[in-house]
Amino acid sequence: MKKWVYFFGAGKAEGDGEWRDLLGGKGAGLAEMTKIGLPVPAGFTVSTETCDYFYKNGKKYPSELKKQIAENVAKLEKTTKKQLGDPKNPLLVSVRSGSARSMPGMMETILNLGLNDKSVAGLGHVTNNERFAYDAYRRFVQMYSTVVMGMSKEDLEHRLRTMKQRVGVKEDTAVPASGWKDLVAEYKQYFREKSGKAFPEDPMEQLWGAIGAVFGSWMAEKAVTYRRVEKITGLLGTAVNVMQMVFGNTGDNSGTGVCFTRDPSSGEKIFYGDYLTNAQGEDVVAGIRTPVHLTELAKLMPKVYDQLEKVRVKLEKHYRDMQDMEFTVEDGTLYMLQTRTGKRTPAAAFHIAMDMANEKLITKEEAVLRIKPEDIERLFYPVIDSKVDKKTLESKILAHGINAVPGAAVGKICFSANETEEWAKRGEKVILVRRETSPEDVGGMAVAQGILTATGGKTSHAAVVARGWGKCCIVGAETLDINYSTKTMTHTKSGKVVKEGEWLTLDGSEGIVYSAQLALVTPEFPKTYRTLMKWADEIRRLRVRTNADTPQDARKAIEFGAEGIGLCRTEHMFFTDFDHPEKSHDRQLAIQEMILADNREARVKALEKLLPFQRRDFVGIFQAMNGFPVTIRLIDPPLHEFVPHEHAKQAELAKELGIPVETVARRVEQLHEANPMLGHRGCRLSITYPEILEMQVRAIIEAAIECQRGGVKVLPEIMIPLTLDKKELGILEQATRRVADDLIKKANIKLPYLVGTMIELPRAALLANEIAEVAEFFSFGTNDLTQTTMGLSRDDAGRFLPDYVDEKKAGVFAGDPFQTLDIKGVGMLMRWGIEKGRETRPKLKVGICGEHGGDADSVKFCHEIGMDYVSASPFRVPISRLAAAQVVVETKQKAAKGKKK
Ligand code: ADP
Ligand code: MG
Ligand code: MG
Repeated sequence: MKKWVYFFGAGKAEGDGEWRDLLGGKGAGLAEMTKIGLPVPAGFTVSTETCDYFYKNGKKYPSELKKQIAENVAKLEKTTKKQLGDPKNPLLVSVRSGSARSMPGMMETILNLGLNDKSVAGLGHVTNNERFAYDAYRRFVQMYSTVVMGMSKEDLEHRLRTMKQRVGVKEDTAVPASGWKDLVAEYKQYFREKSGKAFPEDPMEQLWGAIGAVFGSWMAEKAVTYRRVEKITGLLGTAVNVMQMVFGNTGDNSGTGVCFTRDPSSGEKIFYGDYLTNAQGEDVVAGIRTPVHLTELAKLMPKVYDQLEKVRVKLEKHYRDMQDMEFTVEDGTLYMLQTRTGKRTPAAAFHIAMDMANEKLITKEEAVLRIKPEDIERLFYPVIDSKVDKKTLESKILAHGINAVPGAAVGKICFSANETEEWAKRGEKVILVRRETSPEDVGGMAVAQGILTATGGKTSHAAVVARGWGKCCIVGAETLDINYSTKTMTHTKSGKVVKEGEWLTLDGSEGIVYSAQLALVTPEFPKTYRTLMKWADEIRRLRVRTNADTPQDARKAIEFGAEGIGLCRTEHMFFTDFDHPEKSHDRQLAIQEMILADNREARVKALEKLLPFQRRDFVGIFQAMNGFPVTIRLIDPPLHEFVPHEHAKQAELAKELGIPVETVARRVEQLHEANPMLGHRGCRLSITYPEILEMQVRAIIEAAIECQRGGVKVLPEIMIPLTLDKKELGILEQATRRVADDLIKKANIKLPYLVGTMIELPRAALLANEIAEVAEFFSFGTNDLTQTTMGLSRDDAGRFLPDYVDEKKAGVFAGDPFQTLDIKGVGMLMRWGIEKGRETRPKLKVGICGEHGGDADSVKFCHEIGMDYVSASPFRVPISRLAAAQVVVETKQKAAKGKKK
C-alpha cells in the first residue's frame, strides 16, 4: 500500500530534512528538528505526492488516504494524550501548507482546528482560562470561514472592530471572554447566512475541509503567478502539515516569535529576531502590536531565551547555514514550529559564507557555492531607499517593463540621445527614454542615469549596451506610447501623460517605472566580497576576460578582476570619443566620409582621418590591460548603421562634406539590405574594402609598438568576425600579416601577435578543422551563433520568445537562449568546433565573447567543454569568476557522489 502520510513526534519521525521534495520544506524541517531532539509539537505530514495525485485525478484523493489520516490522527491523540473534539480536554491542531520551495504568504494556514461549542468549554476548563479559549475559537472560526470557505476577511474584521468599540477596548489583548464569545456567535451567524449551512462542529469534517483548502491553494492564482515570476517549476505540489497546537496567547507568560540565527541584513553573527507577548501565529508579523527584540525576551524570560540560544547553535551546526525559525512559548515552555534556510541580503550572503568558512562550519569551496550570481549583481547597484514608504511607491508607479539591468536610477525625462548629452553637460541628471535605441544613441546612453525603452527584450541593443556599463535599464515597457514630436509619453491603459523634463525613477531590478524623484542609496561594498572572490579565483581554471571598447571600460573591468579583453568592438570607436565626447563628431564625419566615398582613393583618404582616433583608443586600452591579452575585432556591422536615414540629417551631412545631398541619399539607398543581419557585414566588408582592414590593423599595431616602447606589455590578438570559410579567412589573415609584419619590421622590434577568428556561423563551427589551419584562436560569438543556428532574430524574438519559454504556453525552452546558452543545439556546435579545431591545432586558444560569457550557467558549460577563457561585460566579470569556480567544486562533488554509489 502506498504511503501518503508521515508521522513525527516524541523524538521520532518517518522522514528527515533531506525529504523536502516529498514532505515540503516545512514538513522536512519539522521531521528533522524532531529527530535531533528539539521541542516540536507532534503531528503528521500529508505528502506532496498526494497533492500531485489530487490534481492528476480530477481533484480526488487516493483511496488509501482516508484510512491513513484516521490512523495518524489516532497516533497523534495517543502521543498527546488528548482527543479531537474532547469536551473535557480537547486536542487542537494547526493545518499548514508547505512545498519544497518556500513561497512566503502564498498559501494559507489554519490554527486551533478542533474547536467547537463543546470542546471550547473543555479548553477553558483545563487551562482555567475562558478568555483564552474563546480567543482561540474566534480565530479558528475566522480562519476557517475565510480560508476554507472563501468568505470576506473584511466583513469579519469589521465585526471584530465593532465588538471592540462596543466593549470599549482598543487592544485585542484587552477584550474579555464575553467579547470573544459574542464575536464567535456573530461569526457563526454570518457563516450561516453566506453558506446556508451551520458551521461544522465535527473536528474530522473540519480537518478534511482544511486539507482540501491547502491543496486548493496550490493552484490559486497568486500561487501560480508567484511560481511563474520566481521561475519555480517541477514541483509535485504542496504538503499538508497537521500538528498539535501550542498556545502563545494564554497570557503574559506566553508569546510567539520569529528569529534568525544571524542578522539577515548585515550577516553579522548576532541572534536576531522579534517576540510578541500573549500572541498567536501571524500576530508577530501582522503589525497589530509592535513586537520587541529578542534582547527583551532575554530579560522577560531568561530561561526560555537560554534554551532558544541553544537551539540556535544546534540548528546552525546541524544545517550548516543560517536558519530562519518560528517559535512559541506556552506558559514558559519553548516550542519550535519551523526552521528553514533564511533569506538574506546580498551583503549578508557574503558575510555569512565567509564567517562560516572561517568558523570551519563549512569549507571555502562550500562558501563559494553559497553565493548566487544575483548576489554579486545586486551588490554594485544603487537601489531605491527602503525608507520610501510602500504607499508612496505604489501610488507613483507609471508602468512595468522588462528588468534588463538591475539597480535604480533617477533623472529627468529626455526623449533624444543628443539632447541627453547636452543636458548632461549642463550637469542635469537624465533618464533617456526611447522607443528603442541604436548605435547612434550611444553617446546619450553613456551620460544618462538610466535608460527606458518601450520595445525590445533583455538582449535588445539598449539592454546589451546598458548591461555592459552596469547602467540601470528597463526595456519593453510596451504600455508606454512615446511621442517624439510632442515630447510626451502616455500610459496606454491609465491614460497618464508625462512630459519631457519631468522626474522619473527606474527600478531596473524589478522593471518598474515611477513618475517621481525617489531617494536612492548605494549599498555598501563589503570587504567580505574581496575575500570570497579571492577564494573563487584560487579554485577556478577558466580565465575571465571582458568585453570592453574603451579605455574607461577596460579600467573598470580590471577593477572587477578581468584578465584581459576578449572582445573590443572597434566600430563603437567610430561613433563616440569617450575621452573627449565633444570630439565625437570628427570621428563620425570621418567614417561617414569613408562610407560615402565612391572609389578606393577617396576611401583611403577618409580612413587616414580615422586612423589617429583608433590608434589613440588602442593605446589607452593596451595601457589599461598592461600584461593581459587584448582581442580586437575588426569592423563588423553593416555600413548603413553609420549613416543617417532622415532627410534633414542627410542634408546636414552633405553640407559638411561639401557634396550634393542626392549623393548621400543615393549611397544610403544603395546600402539598404533586406536582411542586413545576413548581409554585407563582418569580414565580408574587408573582402570588398581591404583598405578598412588595412587601416585598422595599422592602428592596432602602431599603438602596440608605441606602448611597448613606453614599457607597456602588449599582447594583441586580431580577430576577424563572421568567417564562413578557410579561404576567406586566409585572404584576410594574409592581408593582416602583410600590414602588421611590415610595421613591426620597420620599427625593428619584436612584437608577437595572434590572428584568429570568431565562430558565429554554423558553417564555421562545422568546418572548424579547416578554419583552424589559418586561425590561431577561436572566439565563439554566441549572440550571432545563436541567431544563425536557431534562425531567430535576437532583436525581434522578444515578441514571441516569451511564449516559447512560458510553461503554460509552449514551454519549448527552459529559458531565453539569448541569455543562457542553448546547450543542446548551439552547445553541440561549440563542442564540435572545439574538438575539430584542436584536432588541427592542439594548442588552439578558445574563448567566448557573446552575452553568454557573463551568464553563470553558460560559463559553467564553457568550462566543461574545455574553453580557455570567457569574456563578459565589465560588471558581469565577477559573476563569471564565481561561476567558473563553482563549476569546479560542483564537478568535484558530483565525482565524489558517483564514487560513493
Ligand atoms: P507560513 O508558511 O505563512 O509561515 P505557517 O504554517 O508557518 O505559515 O503558520 C502561520 C503561523 O502560525 C506561524 O506564525 C506559525 O508559527 C503559527 N503556527 C503554525 N502551527 C502552529 C501550532 N501548531 N501551534 C502554534 N502556532 C502555530
Ligand atoms: Mg511559517
Ligand atoms: Mg557577431
